[in-house]
Amino acid sequence: MLWSGWGDPARAADLPEPIRKLLGDLLGVRPPRSEAAALDEVRLPPVTLPAPFLAELRDLVGDGHVRLDDETRVRHTRGKSTPDLLRMRAGDGSDAPDAVVLPACHDEVLAVLAACAAHRVAVVPFGGGTSVVGGLVASRRGFAGVVALDLARLDRLVAVDAESMVAELEPGLRAPRAERLLAAHGFTLGHFPQSFEYATLGGFAAARSSGQASAGYGRFDDLVVGMTVATPRGTLDLGRAPRSAAGPDLRQVMLGSEGAFGVITSLRLRVRPVPAERVYEGWRFASFAEGSAALRTLAQQDAAPTVLRLSDETETMIGLARPGEIGTSSAGAGCLAIAGYEGTSAEVSARRERATAVLSGLGGVPLGTGPGRAWEHGRYSAPYLRDALLAAGATVETLETAGFWSNLPRLYDAVRLALGASLGSPLVMCHISHVYGTGASLYFTVVTAQTADPLGQWEAAKRAANEAIIGAGGTISHHHGVGRDHREAHAAEIGELGVEILRGVKDRLDPEGILNPGVLLG
Ligand SMILES: Cc1cc2nc3c(=O)[nH]c(=O)nc-3n(C[C@H](O)[C@H](O)[C@H](O)COP(=O)(O)OP(=O)(O)OC[C@H]3O[C@@H](n4cnc5c(N)ncnc54)[C@H](O)[C@@H]3O)c2cc1C
Repeated sequence: MLWSGWGDPARAADLPEPIRKLLGDLLGVRPPRSEAAALDEVRLPPVTLPAPFLAELRDLVGDGHVRLDDETRVRHTRGKSTPDLLRMRAGDGSDAPDAVVLPACHDEVLAVLAACAAHRVAVVPFGGGTSVVGGLVASRRGFAGVVALDLARLDRLVAVDAESMVAELEPGLRAPRAERLLAAHGFTLGHFPQSFEYATLGGFAAARSSGQASAGYGRFDDLVVGMTVATPRGTLDLGRAPRSAAGPDLRQVMLGSEGAFGVITSLRLRVRPVPAERVYEGWRFASFAEGSAALRTLAQQDAAPTVLRLSDETETMIGLARPGEIGTSSAGAGCLAIAGYEGTSAEVSARRERATAVLSGLGGVPLGTGPGRAWEHGRYSAPYLRDALLAAGATVETLETAGFWSNLPRLYDAVRLALGASLGSPLVMCHISHVYGTGASLYFTVVTAQTADPLGQWEAAKRAANEAIIGAGGTISHHHGVGRDHREAHAAEIGELGVEILRGVKDRLDPEGILNPGVLLG
């Protein structure tokens, strides 16, 4: 993973000429004045952890698994939001952990947590490092230092219960390897977020991730049937049946807890057979409103495909749904929808037939499998483009929310207005990324010319968007989580009593407050 950007450096994207021209003409984007910092130019805070504590950690996890070198610290600094990348490009490593610790099993995690609690050292559980909400930055205040607890060595497929279609997997597994291990047994998780190539199963559970095929397979939190969590107070083992009436569901307390309540060390996940067939196709609608109504009908008639998304007019025009074809959109006017079907050949035919009837009946024009294939080909490419845009002097960032169908137009307008008012005339694109019977999520991509203070510029815009989301009755996050960046808006969403309840849980599980201080709760 590129330390100051996204993904495999060998796959770095070039900015297509139409986009470069559009950026200059439409948004006034000019190349930034300074070059991005090199890795050895990143300014890191001194390591403050006492030597006896470091020796104790080495005893617990082995000498080579406590790392203090600059490169490892840089690679565990923050996540991959645009503000995170802007800070790294400016050489700001001030949020780096003092040490990176790599335990190999649940008991080692427990032991590391106990040592950190005894020495008042903050702990940041670290999966793939792809958080976009500031979920990997601990407050140092009141602590002897910060340790990043990298879960990469907890990377086994532990067991497959083929009869129940449940697999036990460790949290440090990155999604592609998890898929490869499961495929050997004929199964898939069906979880394909845009961060698929780098994110881990533990991170998906901790941040309540949603993938591109979640309409068909469900969100990640739907897949979790059980989990083991290490906390400073001991172990929680949750989930022993598919459904239970044994009191409130504590799995739901841990899902989305973003490392602030405990460290997930094992997950029991629902798996499905690897689909024999996959078909993705494009549809055009005259307007976002018309397309939204068609998607709503699909969801409400339980006829939704496995993949379902709808770009608004601006996103369709730019062609962002198919990054490989950006700027050369052939969909014409209107809005592009992608519908994808996965399963056995019979399942694909039956679902496709049903959805086709609904979509055509509601104004959809079929565009065939060409746009679907282009979407599939480019589905993980957009984040690479962000690096090229940042280097060209544009700020580009995404944000997301969800709401009930009846409120979706209000939410859409409110976010666009807020971004426009804060940034002047940015390019704001949106798509419906996930649908439910009762509502949907809206995923915005914003592009604007960088000012002399791009961080301050984006922070103001993000604050305005957060206020608009809460004001318009949406949730502050459908799938990115809370982290530090959404903390205030999250508190506004759940109210004082809600925050008190979460605080009570944290105080019980983590009395010294060492776990991800400042993330989820202030
Ligand atoms: C380019 C890009 C595209 C993205 N696309 C999507 C998308 O399509 N859908 C989506 O849902 N999200 C997306 N994200 C956000 C991000 O990938 C998800 O939040 C993902 O779930 C994070 O997984 P991770 O392994 O990288 O976790 P990390 O970023 O390492 O951690 C996320 C949070 O969980 C905590 N954590 C990590 N592992 C554990 C554990 N084992 N136990 C307890 N706490 C833990 C961390 O402390 C942190 O607070 C995207 C991010 C980027 C940069």
